[in-house]
Amino acid sequence: MKQIGALDLFTIGIGPSSSHTVGPMRAAFRFAHLVEGQEIDRVQVILYGSLAATGVGHGTKDALAAGLAGYTPELCDPEMVRGAFERSIESGRISILNREVPFAEENLELRSRERLSHHSNGMTFQALLAGHVVQEQTYFSVGGGFIETLGLQQEEDGTEVPYPFASAVELIQLAKANSMTIAELTYANEIAMHPKDVVDQKLKSIWEAMRNCIENGLQAEGILPGFLKVPRRAKSMTAALHRVVEDGTAVGDLTAEWLQAFAIAVNEENAAGNRVVTAPTNGAAGIIPAVAYFAHRFRGVSDEKIAFDYLLTAAAIGSLYKRNASISGAEAGCQGEVGSACSMAAAAITAVMGGTLEQIENAAEIAMEHNLGLTCDPVGGFVQLPCIERNAIAAGTAVAAMRLALMGDGVHKISLDTVIETMRQTGLDMSSKYKETSTGGLAVNVVEC
Ligand code: SF4
Repeated sequence: MKQIGALDLFTIGIGPSSSHTVGPMRAAFRFAHLVEGQEIDRVQVILYGSLAATGVGHGTKDALAAGLAGYTPELCDPEMVRGAFERSIESGRISILNREVPFAEENLELRSRERLSHHSNGMTFQALLAGHVVQEQTYFSVGGGFIETLGLQQEEDGTEVPYPFASAVELIQLAKANSMTIAELTYANEIAMHPKDVVDQKLKSIWEAMRNCIENGLQAEGILPGFLKVPRRAKSMTAALHRVVEDGTAVGDLTAEWLQAFAIAVNEENAAGNRVVTAPTNGAAGIIPAVAYFAHRFRGVSDEKIAFDYLLTAAAIGSLYKRNASISGAEAGCQGEVGSACSMAAAAITAVMGGTLEQIENAAEIAMEHNLGLTCDPVGGFVQLPCIERNAIAAGTAVAAMRLALMGDGVHKISLDTVIETMRQTGLDMSSKYKETSTGGLAVNVVEC
């Protein structure tokens, strides 16, 4: 299986969802290129399972329209994506790269009760000519913006990496045997898959995009999109934190409150459909940047160290979740999204705070252990309630896991591999009501007004 690297797990895109916005946009983009040059006069898109159930609140329709028009999550203008589907309906036409075909509401079918066997997030694209299907392709959005094509194995790029690993045990053994840190080992793999200058530049850009996202979110105000009318609060939290310092009423150290504000800032930007780094998903995008910003601002960790040591360590742990369990809320519930991000951040901050290999593994394990069983039940299908606040709490858990791990010697009873396998099994046992379908939990108990 392909070694999953930092540049796979961290991509600069748009909110609000990696599986329901970023993935569908990539799939639509692929399909548009598949039918490029082919004579067609209509397209039909069918969404299944979770994509159909919560796609509206996750911006899936706009993402599909933008992807068919040739836009990618990395390069699109978020402003242009907003409302793209409605504009197609109003004009009665949709762009397929540089041509247009007629389009109406019924050309998008939502089959929420139908689940394709491979994954809950299935979507079929059909291109038609004179009423006949001339091209058809089904894709799956498997979490974190990753796409798989029906009938094809997950894309293998065939690149050999010098330090392949499939478990935390192998990762730690390899690092020890080669006297490397986890970040050094991951970097060596990364530059085997991509040119060194590309890796260096992208890691720096990812950290810069994370920082920008936090800083934009801390300054933005207003109401988030959707009928829930959730007000943004990162800016008011920032004002309150400054106020208690200025008027002398601050009690103790406020770094935990700042950490929460950083995470909320990112997730509000995500919910607004703005520029955000998928880390490793959009719903959980606040945790890794917030903990990094916390380490930078309150623990003196340099930008360079965050861009390399922190992100590469987080990626190594994230690759284990992606490979051996899931980072998809539709597959494993929120433990797969927020749990994985929390574990990645815990490992990463432990690494940049000077933790040993065992302490890093311990921190990652602690962070996931206490997220096991976490369900996905977004109210109204929007990545807002409970998602935004949940990122703030998980950022705190990641820092707490780092503290606990650094107080020990790394020796512990439950291994990271065990907890990852437990997360996988728990995800399999979890009712589909709690896997990004908004048919259970908070999604059905919160009165929408
Ligand atoms: S509840 Fe968790 S998994 Fe579900 S959409 Fe929100 S952040 Fe993602």
